[in-house]
Amino acid sequence: MKRILLASVLLAFLLPTVGSAQNKIAIAAHRGYWDCPEAGGAQNSIASLKKAQDFHCWGSEFDVHLTADNVVVVNHDPTINGKEIQTNTFEFIKAEELKNGEAICTLDQYLEQGAKCKKTILVLELKKQQNAERENLMTDLIVEALKQHGLFKPNRVMFISFSMFICEKIAREHPTFINQYLEGDVAPADLKAKGINGLDYHYKVFRAHPEWVKEAHDLGMSVNVWTVNKEKDIKAMIDLGVDCITTNDPALVRKLLGKRENQKIKVKLK
Ligand code: MG
Repeated sequence: MKRILLASVLLAFLLPTVGSAQNKIAIAAHRGYWDCPEAGGAQNSIASLKKAQDFHCWGSEFDVHLTADNVVVVNHDPTINGKEIQTNTFEFIKAEELKNGEAICTLDQYLEQGAKCKKTILVLELKKQQNAERENLMTDLIVEALKQHGLFKPNRVMFISFSMFICEKIAREHPTFINQYLEGDVAPADLKAKGINGLDYHYKVFRAHPEWVKEAHDLGMSVNVWTVNKEKDIKAMIDLGVDCITTNDPALVRKLLGKRENQKIKVKLK
């Protein structure tokens, strides 16, 4: 109970004022800020993370998988250049290149860049794995890696996942971190009942359930939305008052937010 209380206090500091029409709204670069010359169009590249940091995005999102020999690697798809990640060793995939010529990187390599900027929170998406055992192991390995890089702090990293198993595990074991479920099929109160303190849903889910934003805020939960790239959709999400907009176009969201942009990650750590 004490941990849950502490988590609520931390979240209250972390999030902008919620529930009002004029709450501040943060920007998370989706798979980094990749759609620019500096990153050469390479999603989940180290260059795309650096660009998100240099652009002072509140957050930079990225995806991770676990190789068959238990190396956590950064990639969106379950395959890279046709090679399956979860069923192969790191040795087998490590030379595979992204669009900008970077090789696929390990979480360790990625966190080295992440640690360089305190102003951009890492939005770490844990991809579904073959089974609960692999998801359990991957989550533990990620926590260890974050600790080694000095990043296992609620103002440096937050977690998102389509896996309810992973979200529930993080809720149980690491309740002071922002922990958002992605699938879009569960109402805020039902997530809260599982101890999950946030939701990160597709914008069409919020179009169908606009009331979920206020419901989540009333429950002290954080609300993130993916992946919003068109002006009319961005404006609709700003009007709904979500806490964070995940986008492939951080410059456009910044322009539309103006003074409503939240760039400050405010956490008081005990
Ligand atoms: Mg993702």
